[in-house]
Amino acid sequence: MFDSLTEKFDSVFKKLRGHGRLSEENIRDALREVRLVLLEADVNYKVVKDFVASVTARAVGQDVLKSLTPAQQVIKVVRDELGLLMGEGEDNSLDLAARPPVSIMLCGLQGAGKTTTCGKLALKLRKEKRNPLLVPADVYRPAAIEQLKTVGRQIGIPVYDTQPGQDPVAICEAARHFADLNGYDTLILDTAGRLHIDQELMGELSRIKASLDPREILFVADAMTGQDAVTVAKAFDELLNITGVVLTKLDGDARGGAALSIRAVTGKPVKLVGMGEKLDALETFHPDRMAQRILGMGDVLSLIEKAESAIDRDQAADMEQRLRKEGFNLETFRDQLQAVKKMGSMESILKLIPGAGKALKKAGDMQLPDKELKKIEAIINSMTRRERRDHRILNGSRRLRIAAGSGTTVQDVNQLLKRFTEAQKMMKKMQKLGPKGLKSLMGR
Ligand code: GDP
Repeated sequence: MFDSLTEKFDSVFKKLRGHGRLSEENIRDALREVRLVLLEADVNYKVVKDFVASVTARAVGQDVLKSLTPAQQVIKVVRDELGLLMGEGEDNSLDLAARPPVSIMLCGLQGAGKTTTCGKLALKLRKEKRNPLLVPADVYRPAAIEQLKTVGRQIGIPVYDTQPGQDPVAICEAARHFADLNGYDTLILDTAGRLHIDQELMGELSRIKASLDPREILFVADAMTGQDAVTVAKAFDELLNITGVVLTKLDGDARGGAALSIRAVTGKPVKLVGMGEKLDALETFHPDRMAQRILGMGDVLSLIEKAESAIDRDQAADMEQRLRKEGFNLETFRDQLQAVKKMGSMESILKLIPGAGKALKKAGDMQLPDKELKKIEAIINSMTRRERRDHRILNGSRRLRIAAGSGTTVQDVNQLLKRFTEAQKMMKKMQKLGPKGLKSLMGR
């Protein structure tokens, strides 16, 4: 996410830290560069101007220059202002407190990620103990109705039965009636999108709004489209008075323009962000954490949350028991790897650790951790159960078979076994030592 933006900020700040003594001119130079970095990231011109003005007001002055760590102070001001720019301190939670069924209307251009986001949102709300109903209100493209049905099936959430050609307002009203009778407390309306804004579409969205009075009207914006997303958001907001924005495709290589400008231009908060095509890849937007990430400072809070949601307690307890019973063998090792993988790609996890993003970049052509993990999994999966539980029986011909079965080489298999036996020895040592011994090992 925003890799090139992060890299450029990093080089501006490196220069700033490199000065023996900072002068006011040094700071002004750095802020001029910050201005360019933001413009290159496709941030709205006026937003950049106001941003740099606020940072300058706080960062250029005796207070900063006299402090012990002036460069650090400037960076802190930039971080704080980035957070404010994206809405830090404002309430950006979904407001669904009304007599059910409440409606959430998703709108935006075709391809922005509306249908996918409807599914993601339904899944998220169900986790929060709500009972959502998906409503396909895009009657022009039969494929759109089918797509929502497919999404609904994948996550086991009902989709209101709609036929192409029906009136979208009538569909939404009937769906509300149906929800009322059948105990669904939240309607998620997947409205039609077009390639461009047109009067007919806008008229239809206004009629849906007037009839359903949605508690939330979320504009779905494709972060990859930068400034365009912001312009379109503004038009939708003028017509519909949206309540918030969902930024999608932040997992891609968006430059950052949409994320950094959309709140300032529309005055509406980003409430959620799409971080992947999978239906569980929807996250609450935290402006402060995003600012940290953009500046390459990691995001440990999100990392902890990810770990907590990916690894459930029962599974962890189960794993502990198996380790006790079976010991650390290739099978338990593989299952542990799979549990970690549920948190997302290794690269995305590592990036949440302060400083690790940069280290990853430096590693450059090192085998990507995810690829390496896939290979390890493929090798272990090509073994028989007996082999997984006791790797000592793996002779030459077995290794050959496993390499062929997993599309790897015998060297790969050997390397994995070597690493695994080392890890196993280490585990045994640690178990023998017990907690007391461990402490003495670490010199405490
Ligand atoms: P709609 O036309 O607005 O309903 O858009 P869709 O929901 O059909 O999404 C368009 C494409 O974007 C699909 O291929 C989705 O898988 C993809 N997409 C949606 N959200 C995300 C996201 O957060 N990250 C990524 N990488 N792809 C996404």
